[in-house]
Amino acid sequence: MRRLQVSSRAAQRAAAGHPWIYANEIRATLSDLVPGELVALQGKAGSPIGIGYANPHSLIAVRILAGEGETIDADFFAKKLAIADALRRRVRPGARAYRLCYGEGDDLPGLVVDRYDDVYVVASHTAGIDGLLHHVIAALVRDFDPRGILVKSDSSDRKLEGLTPRIEVVHGEMPAELEVEIEGARFVLDLAHGQKTGFFFDQADNRTWLAAHAAGARVLDAFSYVGAWGIRSALAGAKRVVCVDSSADAVRLGEQSAAASGVGDRVRFERADAFDDLAARVEREERFDIVVLDPPAFVKSRRKLDEGMRGYRSINRLGMTLVAPGGLLATSSCSRHVDPAAFVGMLQAAADDAKRPARILAIGRQAPDHPVPLKLPEAGYLDCIFLELGPCSK
Ligand code: SAH
Repeated sequence: MRRLQVSSRAAQRAAAGHPWIYANEIRATLSDLVPGELVALQGKAGSPIGIGYANPHSLIAVRILAGEGETIDADFFAKKLAIADALRRRVRPGARAYRLCYGEGDDLPGLVVDRYDDVYVVASHTAGIDGLLHHVIAALVRDFDPRGILVKSDSSDRKLEGLTPRIEVVHGEMPAELEVEIEGARFVLDLAHGQKTGFFFDQADNRTWLAAHAAGARVLDAFSYVGAWGIRSALAGAKRVVCVDSSADAVRLGEQSAAASGVGDRVRFERADAFDDLAARVEREERFDIVVLDPPAFVKSRRKLDEGMRGYRSINRLGMTLVAPGGLLATSSCSRHVDPAAFVGMLQAAADDAKRPARILAIGRQAPDHPVPLKLPEAGYLDCIFLELGPCSK
């Protein structure tokens, strides 16, 4: 393993528990590094910092994975995953589907593992984890007794690492479609072809908040994917629910999920562009007691900030207009580059556009199976704001 000297600022940050070393903090020629190679990091005077994996293509040139002298093998990952598992038993007692490992949040930078009952989906975001994935799989097979393991490494941030997508069943069997109990509902999911690892666990607690207000409500779930917000609202007593998503697969699986959850008669799915669909509903003067906006990240990079914020503002103006006076808007951003203050500022502008006074009732973040290290606030990405909308002020 090669030794790599880092700047004193980086050494200090690492000592404080921050796992990233940036490209301009390394005292070596970047191009000498092999993507994914393990390096022993040291401070100026040669003081040991720990073991990381490098990637010359990434702005985050090294992610720290282990302490100095540790062996990185299946046992190493087994130990980390056991700690991750213990946290899930605390925050998701009795559950059989959740995010088992959230990268940096579980001290395993770049590695995501989601559990769906006895099937596990592993996503690697970095060249370093790609190179160590056989150890991860060995640890899962040994300690978690999986029926199947799917590698689903196709996130867009792999491009920043110079990596191509990889989707492959690496252990046991993987049903093409899986029916699994999540958050008290039943979802039919296609893990290999679905979005991300197949389901969005990060909104679980925010959906629980909304469900407590859903009895008797007319609900619009926009950007619904398989309808997790809408189906949970229906199970909590919503009168009728419309879910809108542009993906035909999401709509098909959503319909099956609503039926499997026993609420197929009250939850309808429509395949449409949400901007067009909501605008048409505004035109028809439809009103809902609850509108959910849970879109994909509109701001994928800092360069896209203005364009993305315009998208948020316009969909939120439409969403607010569709909320009946006294009703609720549950609106989310999963853009890493949009901080909570900017999100609230955008909502203020959208409320002006819609001429609707609004009050914040609650603010939710990502669920605790996506823990955010205190020293790495960058690992937090989800904001979910619950607004109560007053009558139109025009
Ligand atoms: N609300 C979902 C997660 C949504 S992820 C949940 O709780 O599980 C974002 C979804 O938006 C994806 O399903 C994607 O297909 C959909 N989508 C992206 N652009 C869209 C658009 N313009 N109109 C409608 N749906 C869109």
